[in-house]
Amino acid sequence: MSRIHLLDDEAINQIAAGEVVDRPASVIKELMENAIDAGASTVRVDLSSDSREITRIRVVDNGSGMEAADACLAFTRHATSKLKSGRDLTHISTMGFRGEALASIAAISRVTLVTKARDSEEVAGTRVVIAGGEVLESTETGAPEGTSIAVEDIFFNTPARRKFLRSRQTELTHIYGVAEHLALANPEVSFRLFHNGKEKISARKAKDLRETIGYLRGSASARDLLPMKSQTPYMQISGYLAKPQTSQTNSHQIYIAVNRRPVTSSQIARAVRDGYGTLLPKNRFPVAYVGLTIDLAQVDVNVHPTKMEIRFSDEGAVTAAISSAVREALSGQDLSAEGEAPLSRPAPFPEQKDEKKEEIPSTPGVASTEVAYRPASQHFRLSATDTQLRLSEIPEEEEIRNLPEMEVLGQVDETYIIAKTRGNEELVVIDQHAAHERILYDQLCRRRDTEEGRSQELLVPVPVTLRPEQAAALAGALPLLKAEGFVLEEFGRETYAVRAVPMVLGKRMGTEILEDMISDLLAEDMRSANERQEKITSTIACRAAIKAGATLSREQMTRLLDQLSRTEHPYTCPHGRPTIVTYTRARLDLIFRRT
Ligand code: ADP
Ligand code: MG
Repeated sequence: MSRIHLLDDEAINQIAAGEVVDRPASVIKELMENAIDAGASTVRVDLSSDSREITRIRVVDNGSGMEAADACLAFTRHATSKLKSGRDLTHISTMGFRGEALASIAAISRVTLVTKARDSEEVAGTRVVIAGGEVLESTETGAPEGTSIAVEDIFFNTPARRKFLRSRQTELTHIYGVAEHLALANPEVSFRLFHNGKEKISARKAKDLRETIGYLRGSASARDLLPMKSQTPYMQISGYLAKPQTSQTNSHQIYIAVNRRPVTSSQIARAVRDGYGTLLPKNRFPVAYVGLTIDLAQVDVNVHPTKMEIRFSDEGAVTAAISSAVREALSGQDLSAEGEAPLSRPAPFPEQKDEKKEEIPSTPGVASTEVAYRPASQHFRLSATDTQLRLSEIPEEEEIRNLPEMEVLGQVDETYIIAKTRGNEELVVIDQHAAHERILYDQLCRRRDTEEGRSQELLVPVPVTLRPEQAAALAGALPLLKAEGFVLEEFGRETYAVRAVPMVLGKRMGTEILEDMISDLLAEDMRSANERQEKITSTIACRAAIKAGATLSREQMTRLLDQLSRTEHPYTCPHGRPTIVTYTRARLDLIFRRT
């Protein structure tokens, strides 16, 4: 007897449904997408739930509607009005095209469809009730133009799937995410979502994306966004970027739409993040809204049943264009942190520990340098600041100033510089270490390609002995270190002689910093040479920068601000921490309740 047999239709539909509809949020997604494809200008979602689960979903649109015959056919698997043949797959402009969603939803729930076609001969509308894939009712009914689909008893006949649903709140969170993403991709459509009668999302018809963001996130945060716009021969990039201060621990707040289709793409998210470069701390992600309009033939949307993934014919070109569009949008912008930070408690930045107040090098792994080195360092400490500042001088010809002119008022706790802007007299607080780090970082980057003035020879070469894995990491990074001004000579397998160090480090340190960099190189999973170089440069900048606790004269502070204003990104240190916090008059009035 044969052991293989064909499955019946019900089983086939349930299996296929599992791919399209894996949770209530996917039902909402498919129904909202159909409404958009039907040309609706308003879409309303109603959710009902009891204390445990979502009991009913209804999506109502004012789109094209369906005639009676189509209304029944719509629930058949692979029935669609959006695709005629396989050839059409190369230029899909609609959200749907697989003809699977309604069939899948109807296979695992009870669906009531009420629809009436726009501009049709048919006088009445149509009502279809279908449960577990079986048509229970198909009748004429009075109905407004458009479509209403109600879904109940979700997963009633697929207990396995039902068991894996998360808490009601988790499912709601997913639903809100899906609805918002669709709203962001379609600003000209009005979306409203209600849960148990309470309005949860209201994205009215908007003239542009910023307005939609305003509806969803509040007008204050929408106002603070920086616009991005860029064009390549076959692609248009547009969107809005949040300032670096609102950074996130993951990339979930990078909303991406490709030809108005909300998609998830770790490559695009990465490209957006790369565009922020050192404006963000490592492992932090920006808030960003990115829209691509790209030749339909250049994208493949038929990757997965949920249609959330896409492929590009030239992914490298797309991500490169996005990174540079982001970079361009951020450059020259006022990225200063608003003076709110001290009132709300800012999240600790991950790299805060990098700044070591302690000046004496502690280098357990580089034992042999310690003896040779420690006395020199202690001696140097007394006058380090001035030398450090002088070493970081940015050439005068760099005339572009990226900060308003400021007058120094004083120093607080040997850590913060207090200043006011000339003219409008805003109060400005500057983190001296972060500011100097930024100056040094810029200078290191600028000198990287020149031979001159970037390296200084040590009077006596310093031997460094490393553990094997440290030596291996160092060997791989030698060209990168050389680019920064280190001259290292290999002595046997795990010993190096340091002959020269980057100029900015001064003579006082130079070798213990190797330990820092090596542990970075070991710890980080850094893919590109660029990223590694960046990390090395910021480590050098951090080590060489004046520390919190260093007393500065007024003249030194003025010079520091002057140099900072001539850097390209004066508002953040290379780790992405803010360098400057500004209190406007309005902000001060608010704090003192003068308003
Ligand atoms: P797809 O969207 O991939 O075509 P669906 O199963 O989601 O497949 O829908 C099947 C068909 O039903 C669609 O092609 C469309 O013609 C019709 N349809 C579904 N929802 C609507 C709606 N809200 N308004 C008008 N027509 C709809
Ligand atoms: Mg569809």
